[in-house]
Amino acid sequence: MTGQIRPRGAYTATPCRACRTPKPVRLYLCTACWNALPEKAQRALKKRDDQAHGRLRQLHDHIDSEQPLEELEITP
Ligand SMILES: [Zn+2]
Repeated sequence: MTGQIRPRGAYTATPCRACRTPKPVRLYLCTACWNALPEKAQRALKKRDDQAHGRLRQLHDHIDSEQPLEELEITP
């Protein structure tokens, strides 16, 4: 694969799905992209229950279909 930016020592980082900035692996998005999400979506994504994986999928599908982050809606 090409275009993978992997700075030395950044093995705990993964690229932000939306903008490809390296971010800590425990975060879904880099801070800038996270802050672009509607507050309601942020709250939903922060919940850790058995639906968390499904919500993450919704986030990824939203980004992959190139919709604006501000329009993300998470359905529980
Ligand atoms: Zn980002």
